[in-house]
Amino acid sequence: MDFSLTKEQRMIQEMVRDFAEKEIAPKADDIDKEERFPEEVFRKMGELGLMGIPFPEEYGGSGGDTLSYILAVEEIGRVCGSTGLSYAAAVSLGSSPIYHFGTEKQRQEHLIPLASGGSLASFGLTEPNAGSDAGGTRTKAEKRGDRYVINGEKCWITNASYARTVTVTAVTGEDDRGKKKISAFIVPTDAKGLTIRAEYEKMGVKGSNTTELVLEDVEVPEENILGDPEKGFNQFLYTLDGGRISIASLALGIGRAAYEDALKYSNERKQFGKHIGSFQAIQFKLADVAMELELARNMIAKAAWLKDNKKPFKKEAAMAKLFASEAATRACNQSLQIHGGYGYMREYKIERYLRDAKLMEIGEGTSEIQRLVIAREIGCPRQ
Ligand SMILES: Cc1cc2nc3c(=O)[nH]c(=O)nc-3n(C[C@H](O)[C@H](O)[C@H](O)COP(=O)(O)OP(=O)(O)OC[C@H]3O[C@@H](n4cnc5c(N)ncnc54)[C@H](O)[C@@H]3O)c2cc1C
Repeated sequence: MDFSLTKEQRMIQEMVRDFAEKEIAPKADDIDKEERFPEEVFRKMGELGLMGIPFPEEYGGSGGDTLSYILAVEEIGRVCGSTGLSYAAAVSLGSSPIYHFGTEKQRQEHLIPLASGGSLASFGLTEPNAGSDAGGTRTKAEKRGDRYVINGEKCWITNASYARTVTVTAVTGEDDRGKKKISAFIVPTDAKGLTIRAEYEKMGVKGSNTTELVLEDVEVPEENILGDPEKGFNQFLYTLDGGRISIASLALGIGRAAYEDALKYSNERKQFGKHIGSFQAIQFKLADVAMELELARNMIAKAAWLKDNKKPFKKEAAMAKLFASEAATRACNQSLQIHGGYGYMREYKIERYLRDAKLMEIGEGTSEIQRLVIAREIGCPRQ
C-alpha cells in the first residue's frame, strides 16, 4: 500500500507506528495478562488526534480519510490486539454512526468530545438471542410523550464501561408488512436504569472492555434517536460495512506481527547446524503468509478507497474482512509452528496474537455472514 500513500497518510502511519512501539508495545503483555483496559493509552491517543482521524476538523477530528484511519488501526493492532479492537470499536462503531447519521445538534454534542479524544462511545447491537440475525432484536423502545422508554439486554458490547454514550438499537414498532422497525438511540452511560457489567472471561483481546448492558425503563428524549428513526436497520448495516474495513486492518496488523516475528526467528534459530529459515518447509510457510498479508493489504486498501470515494463498498469490505481475518489466524498459526515449543510459551507473544486474531473472524459479522453478504452482492438468490 505504501506505493500509493499520500504524504499525509505516510505521516500518520509513521507517527502511529512510533507511538505504538514506544507507548503500547511495552505494556501489551501486561494488558493481556491483567485483562486491563489501557485508559492512559486512550488518553494519549486522544491528545495525538487519533480518535478523530476520519472526521472533519469542524467536529473535532483530524480531517483524514478512511485509509489514514485504517493505517492507524493496523499499527496499533500490530503491537496490541486489545488496544486495537477498542480503538477500532470506538471510532468505527462509537463515533462513525453519529457522524454519518446524527443531526447537527448530535454531532455538536456527542461527536466533538469523541473525535477530539475527550471521551469514548460504544455501539450496542448484539443481544443474547440476536447475534448474526440482528433483525431478531428484542430490546424495545416505547414512545411516551416526547420521550422513549427502553427495555432490553445487550451482550459483548465493546468499551461501554469507559464510554460516555452507547448507541443502542431497539424495536420501535412494525412496518406495513409486519416487519420490525428498528431505531438507534444515543443513551448516556450514566442514564438511570442502565446497568453495565464487564464480567466476561475471554479467550483473547483480554484488555478490550467487553460488557453486558441491561436496560430497565431507561428514558431518553426523542431527540436522542440517531438519524432517521425509520432507517435504523440500514444505518447499522452501513456502520458495520465501514467497521469491517477496520477489523480487516486490525487482523492485518496482528498477522503482520506474527509474520515479522516468525521471519526474524527463522533467521536466528538453528537446528541440524542450519538456520531453520534455510529449510524449504519453513520458507514456503513464510512465503504463503507474506503473500496472503499482501493480498489482504490490497483488498483493505481497495475497500477504503471505495468508501472514501463514495462508491459502493459493501462487497469489498466483506471480502477484505473475511480474507484478512482468516489470513491473520493462518499467519499466527504458522508463526507459532515456526517458533516450535517457544511459540507455545507466553513469553514469545505468538499465542497472544493467535488468541486475539481469532476474534476477527467473529466480531462485526462472522466469516459465514461475510460469505452470505458476498453471495448476495454477487447476485445469489436470498434463502
Ligand atoms: C470480544 C467481542 C466484542 C464484541 N463487540 C461488539 C460490540 O461492540 N457491539 C456489538 O453490537 N456486538 C459486539 N460483539 C458481538 C459480535 O458482533 C457477535 O458475536 C457476532 O455478530 C456473531 O453473533 P453471535 O456471537 O450471536 O453468533 P451467532 O449468530 O449465534 O452464530 C453462531 C454460528 O452460526 C453461524 N451462523 C449464524 N447465522 C448463519 C447463517 N444464516 N448462515 C450460516 N451460518 C450462520 C455463525 O457464523 C456462527 O458460526 C462482540 C463480540 C465479541 C466476542
